[in-house]
Amino acid sequence: MSLEEKTSVRTPRLFVVSGPSGVGKGTLVERVRQLRSHIGVTVSATTRPPRVGEKDGVSYHFLSDEEFERRVAAGEFVEWAWVHAHRYGTLLSEVEAVLGRGESVILEIDVQGGLNVRKIYPDAVLIFVDAPSEEELERRLRGRGTESEESIALRLQNAAEERELARSYDVHMINDVLEVATDELLATLDTYER
Ligand code: 5GP
Repeated sequence: MSLEEKTSVRTPRLFVVSGPSGVGKGTLVERVRQLRSHIGVTVSATTRPPRVGEKDGVSYHFLSDEEFERRVAAGEFVEWAWVHAHRYGTLLSEVEAVLGRGESVILEIDVQGGLNVRKIYPDAVLIFVDAPSEEELERRLRGRGTESEESIALRLQNAAEERELARSYDVHMINDVLEVATDELLATLDTYER
C-alpha cells in the first residue's frame, strides 16, 4: 500500500504513542502529523514549568498544582500520571472534540497514561517506540541539552519501568533511523484506520 496521503474513507481511531523520554517520539509524531493532515491534535496539561520556546496552550496547558488538582477532582482528565516528578494529563474535552469531528487522534503520553486510556477507550491502539539501545537513548537525552544530570538519570530509570509496563501494548517499534520509523508508524496508522 502506498504511504502517500490517502483520500479513501478511514475509520477514526485513538492512537497512543509512548516511549522513553529522549527516544524521539515527539519528532516522529510531528512528522507523521505533517503527512497525515486528517489526524487531530490534543494539548496535554502539565504542572512542569515551560522550557524555553514552549507556549502555553500550544506545547501544553501549563497549570499550577492547585489548578491541576481542581481539574482532577472535577473529572476533567481521561488519564493523568506523575512523570519525572511532575503531573501530566489528557483532558477529556480535548479528546472528545477531535473524535467528535470524526478525526483520528494521537496521544503522545507515558505508558501509565496509555494503559489508563485503554480502560476508557478499549479500542485505542497503543504503540510503544523504543531506542535501538540504552546507550543511544542516553546519547539522545544528553544531546537534547535540556535536562540536568539528575533528570537524565531519572528518565533512564523510568525507561526501564516503561518498557516493562508496555509489554501489553499493541505495537512495539524502534526509532533508529527517523525516516524508516516514520514510514513504519504511518503504515501502522493506515492499517488500524482501514
Ligand atoms: P516532557 O516533559 O519531556 O514534555 O514529557 C515528559 C513525559 O510526559 C513524556 O514521556 C510524555 O510522553 C509524557 N506526557 C506528556 N503528556 C502527557 C499526558 O497528557 N499524560 C501522560 N500520562 N503523560 C504525558
